[in-house]
Amino acid sequence: MTKYLDVATIRQDFPLLTAPFHGKRLVYLDSAVSGQVPLPAIERMHHYEAYEHTNVHRGVSTLSQEATDSYEGAREKVRALLNAPSSKQVIWTRGTTESINLVAQAWGRQNVKEGDEILLSAMEHHANIVPWQLLAQEKGAKIKVIPMNDRGELILEDLDGLLTERTKIVGVTQVSNVLGTINPVKEIIAKAHAKGIPVLVDGAQGVPHMPVDVQDLDCDFYVFSGHKLSGPTGIGVLYGRKELLEAMPPWHGGGSMILSVTWEKTVFMGIPAKLEAGTPAITQAIGLGAAIDYLKGLSFDRIAAHEHALLQYATDRLKAIEGLRIIGEAANKASVISFVLEGIHPHDIGSILDHEGIVVRAGHHCAQPVMQHFQVPATTRASLAYYNDEADVDALVVGIQKVKDIFG
Ligand code: PLP
Repeated sequence: MTKYLDVATIRQDFPLLTAPFHGKRLVYLDSAVSGQVPLPAIERMHHYEAYEHTNVHRGVSTLSQEATDSYEGAREKVRALLNAPSSKQVIWTRGTTESINLVAQAWGRQNVKEGDEILLSAMEHHANIVPWQLLAQEKGAKIKVIPMNDRGELILEDLDGLLTERTKIVGVTQVSNVLGTINPVKEIIAKAHAKGIPVLVDGAQGVPHMPVDVQDLDCDFYVFSGHKLSGPTGIGVLYGRKELLEAMPPWHGGGSMILSVTWEKTVFMGIPAKLEAGTPAITQAIGLGAAIDYLKGLSFDRIAAHEHALLQYATDRLKAIEGLRIIGEAANKASVISFVLEGIHPHDIGSILDHEGIVVRAGHHCAQPVMQHFQVPATTRASLAYYNDEADVDALVVGIQKVKDIFG
């Protein structure tokens, strides 16, 4: 056990992690796909649904006012988490994917024209590629790519040359969901800003692993998903610089985002409402707020230190396995480890480990360009969270040995 967190006590807050799975102890090493939700967040959502539920921003009923307070309170928790200047700059979405589509469709359609360039990194998740490709196709713009080396680090020496007068936006992931690489986003942002170019940071794999300060980063957009931060699915966040959000046209239209509607025209509300049409995911927002409280209680610094120590331990143990190659060996990594085993397909590895009660992800991880770079069809990925410990890593190592024995 690392000296930073009491994992045995923490696990008591996760029924799934203490219940039997295939007759064994569940070893959950798939938090990059979705984090487990702690009981206090589950109970908060249950209490809201059972005793407090109605719609928000509607009517003068006490019930609606209290629901609105809880819902807006969760927005304030996200603001504090990111150190955003104002909670008005926190837009609720369904997740990272929707946040990026919102920027691409609302900001992008207004600002990107034929011949313009959108600069992405070589290690983006499809969520930070496909929305930009759709926009580029519509507008006749071009996607350009910041390359990476074979350790899985971006080649920043190429960045200056790639930032041209045609570049309209840079999109970069804070942490690669395949390689675990922590990108130097602050440096990338500074270089882009020197040329007046805004930057969107995909924080889906960043915010679960490290304290985030959007003002210190000086990013223009920061996006993440609640379910990767031990919150529920169906809720996500778009943080944006005030001027950019205010200048953006609405993407979706409907109720809750208007000041007045006549047959002739609609006058919209300001941010955040302008970008949040319709009834929101109230329970999920409140649940995410409770998850943030829980993680704060553990301390984001301690979580980061614990995961870093565990990453080191896991890397050393996995590297000692003959025939195993780690994909992604950046100097600065979060607790995500992809690997391939000589002669054995990741799907077979994943299935055998599953029978041993070990949950990992096998596949292309929605990052096919990364697979193409490393010339592998897929990898097996173990992702470690604050509720994992050395025993989980040891179980993985034993499981991999079993896979090797089966395949001879
Ligand atoms: N970006 C990164 C880096 C991710 O890892 C993921 C999900 O794995 C996403 C974006 C998409 O997140 P969601 O499916 O929650 O929208």
